[in-house]
Amino acid sequence: MMSAAHNPSDMRHDWTVEEVASLLNMPFNDLLFRAQTVHRENFDPNAVQVSTLLSIKTGACPEDCAYCPQSARYDTKLEKEKLMEVEAVIEKAKAAKAAGSDRFCMGAAWRSPRAKDMPYVLAMVKGVKEIGLETCMTLGMLDDEKADALAEAGLDYYNHNLDTSPEYYGDIITTRTYSDRLNTLANVRNAGMKVCSGGILGMGESQKDRAGLLVQLANLPAHPDSVPINQLVKVEGTPLESEGDLDPLDFIRTIAVARIMMPKSHVRLSAGREEMSEEMQAMCFFAGANSIFYGECLLTTPNPAANKDQDLFRKLGINSDHHVTKAPRELDEILAQPMASDAMFYDASAQAAQ
Ligand code: SF4
Repeated sequence: MMSAAHNPSDMRHDWTVEEVASLLNMPFNDLLFRAQTVHRENFDPNAVQVSTLLSIKTGACPEDCAYCPQSARYDTKLEKEKLMEVEAVIEKAKAAKAAGSDRFCMGAAWRSPRAKDMPYVLAMVKGVKEIGLETCMTLGMLDDEKADALAEAGLDYYNHNLDTSPEYYGDIITTRTYSDRLNTLANVRNAGMKVCSGGILGMGESQKDRAGLLVQLANLPAHPDSVPINQLVKVEGTPLESEGDLDPLDFIRTIAVARIMMPKSHVRLSAGREEMSEEMQAMCFFAGANSIFYGECLLTTPNPAANKDQDLFRKLGINSDHHVTKAPRELDEILAQPMASDAMFYDASAQAAQ
């Protein structure tokens, strides 16, 4: 039987690691039933929010996140790219909208955006807003001034992940601290933007670390509006390339506990979906995941093609009232197109290590 210490729909900010570890250890069926109950109290159980993620500046990042192929410190054979030209970003956003995306997320591999990047980034936010999409960005650390500027330009969401527990964090990243991350989240919140923050599973962390990550997220002053839960994609050349596999049931359990702890947040199935079977993804949706990224590339790692996602949604009866005005194949093609001309870029990556 499920523990009834708290009403399933309580919005709590006082979780303890022990309490969350005991949720993670519940009998699987009880845990999924409880998570699905909370999910139905707060969301349409057959609706999944769809976002498209575009890398607006790839590679050459000075940070040392052990999982990341974009770090300049690891030889991952990734082609570094310059910051995309504003018009090109807007074209991709139009394609994503036509293919049924609700939100357009733009990611840049920076420690933090520099003052000279800001006019371009702000123009992207305004342009994507104008075509009627929600906007999200992930650009690294933000001080209060840059957070305010993005909010003023109309940015809806800012993504900044906590990645793992405070205890395990030092094994994964040394170039910024956990409190740097919490400060960025505070600046985003104070600027009035919605927070998107989650973590990565399968990096060799313990179950206690997974509990610790969820406690950090749920005990923020407000639950993040979006909680991406990623499964490590092991990229050759990164320090985590040979990490052991995470038990898929532990991944699903973590999704279920995130749903219980943050009942009104969108829990997003993010990186690693390419390696998940349809059955596993279906279990994740049942456990309370209700958001995905759509499109072939999730920053620099493969993501199931949009038409494969549409097939899965059809089989599961998800978003059956969601109208798509262009074939998903067309989205794949447009998102995969190289940019028209090198002159459309300016080279942000060359100065990234400053
Ligand atoms: S800051 Fe972002 S882009 Fe840079 S290494 Fe870390 S995860 Fe990768």
